[in-house]
Amino acid sequence: MTMIKGIAASNGIAIAKAYKLVMPDLTVTKVTVEDVESEIKRYEAAMEQTAKELETIKEAASKNLSAEEAAVFDAHALVLADPELKTQVEDKIKNEKVNADAALEEVANTFVAMFEMMDDEYFKERAADIKDVSRRLLANLLGKPLPNPALIDEEVIIIADDLTPSDTAQLNKNLVRGFATNIGGRTSHSAIMARSLEIPAVVACKTITEDVKAGDMIALDGIEGTVVINPDEETVKSYTAKRDEFIAYKEELKKLVNEKTVTTDGHHVELVANIGGANDLPGAHENGAEGVGLFRTEFLYMESADLPTEERQYEVYKEVLENMNGKPVVVRTLDIGGDKKIEAIDLPEEMNPFLGVRAVRLCFQKEDIFRTQLRALLRASVHGDLRIMFPMIATLQEFRKAKGLLLEEKEKLVAEGVKVSDTLQVGIMIEIPAAAVLADQFAKEVDFFSIGTNDLIQYTFAADRMSSGVSYLYQPFNPSILRLVKHVIDSAHKEGKWAGMCGEMAGETLAAPLLLGLGLDEFSMSATSVLAQRKLIKNLSKAEMEVLANKAINCCTMEEVVALVEEVIK
Ligand code: PEP
Ligand code: MG
Repeated sequence: MTMIKGIAASNGIAIAKAYKLVMPDLTVTKVTVEDVESEIKRYEAAMEQTAKELETIKEAASKNLSAEEAAVFDAHALVLADPELKTQVEDKIKNEKVNADAALEEVANTFVAMFEMMDDEYFKERAADIKDVSRRLLANLLGKPLPNPALIDEEVIIIADDLTPSDTAQLNKNLVRGFATNIGGRTSHSAIMARSLEIPAVVACKTITEDVKAGDMIALDGIEGTVVINPDEETVKSYTAKRDEFIAYKEELKKLVNEKTVTTDGHHVELVANIGGANDLPGAHENGAEGVGLFRTEFLYMESADLPTEERQYEVYKEVLENMNGKPVVVRTLDIGGDKKIEAIDLPEEMNPFLGVRAVRLCFQKEDIFRTQLRALLRASVHGDLRIMFPMIATLQEFRKAKGLLLEEKEKLVAEGVKVSDTLQVGIMIEIPAAAVLADQFAKEVDFFSIGTNDLIQYTFAADRMSSGVSYLYQPFNPSILRLVKHVIDSAHKEGKWAGMCGEMAGETLAAPLLLGLGLDEFSMSATSVLAQRKLIKNLSKAEMEVLANKAINCCTMEEVVALVEEVIK
């Protein structure tokens, strides 16, 4: 039995077998071959193995995934069977006397580059298929087969280096009981996804992919951040008891689902949910969210290798708005970059992707993609209380430019006779220190702020949210952050605007008293945190929390602030 300490990323306890989702190293060494015929045979054997693998995956996928997701594997089988690919690889082996691995890599790269250059969406999609199939073929040639998460057919805990949001989206939620990763922090997107899926998770376990063998038993505690490999009987017993306790606690909280969040002195705040798509709506309702404070639309762009059309987006936004039945829905425009990538957009390789072409910066470079999203949103605006929010705004010019594009699309739609809401609010995320400091000026032009503490903290402390080495600098309770938050809220209120928070801080127990005292109007969080925050806030007095917050912003360190708050809520 080995115990590993990581960072608690998503509440809950899980006990299940390990499933290692680790990509093998597929580096190819080019060598000259004499026996061309046996090299071709080797290639044919890898093709056969790949075809069998795709068939099995397709069968499993048709049971576990949606028809659309499963259809991807049909496309892969077609690419594999394409005689053009086979002929070119074999010709290369024969004519250049190179090994099959190198021949495949070179031919596949040429095909991919050719298809990617074409304007037609259909061919761009084929480029992605060729990439996938040739990677699988190459893995089989090298004798290092790829893991196949679609084949999971029993309860497992996923062990991985990191889980990208698109990996996570492909997992079967009914069978994945938890996950543990080498890297990441509480605010990495894999952790955020785990919370919205209610899958217990521990991140930053450093070497977990090496420590665990496939099939090991794992006990995982996403509350404390511990992972036990091959636990003994005692440990299994104590984890099982803790799991039952956690389930009972969640049942108890359910009693607050239909209640308003009102303090002991009568002050009402809104507790709303962060969602990644319409799939998260049942969770938002079950947990008593009073609206949606952040719809991270980028997950819509991860559904397939293609960009979502205006029509597809319109349908999703409409569905979310109608489902929320007149309650506010804040939709954030595309925020790709940093730790989020999508197949359909080629991002430049950058030294520091979190500081690079991300979110609106990317949208300004790919204006057609941005305009498509804005049109879909505007068309959907008549179906509920839509609020549009721009991410990663650093300067007023950026806000004006984004809003300008929105107004241009609105004018076009109106000219086409399409109805658009007149009460649509347009706001920004405050997640870059420059915008937080200048909030008083921004407040004159925006309808609302939503503070994105995940990024605001990483940028204020210059500490990458993905790096466990600097995770001690994720300091939501540092007085520097509290002062920025206070300035943002005060600036909004001075101009008669509202201020919310959609970073993970809004859902943290210790933050609630402080944010209440600082005057936050709207708290947006993973739906699973709503009821616990409601229970806490209902027992607090706003006036007393104002005194507490005032003391906190005058502290010197995070530790002093935490001690102050713990005194209040103990
Ligand atoms: C944030 O930065 O706090 C935020 C809510 O956005 P994201 O986590 O998607 O970057
Ligand atoms: Mg952010």
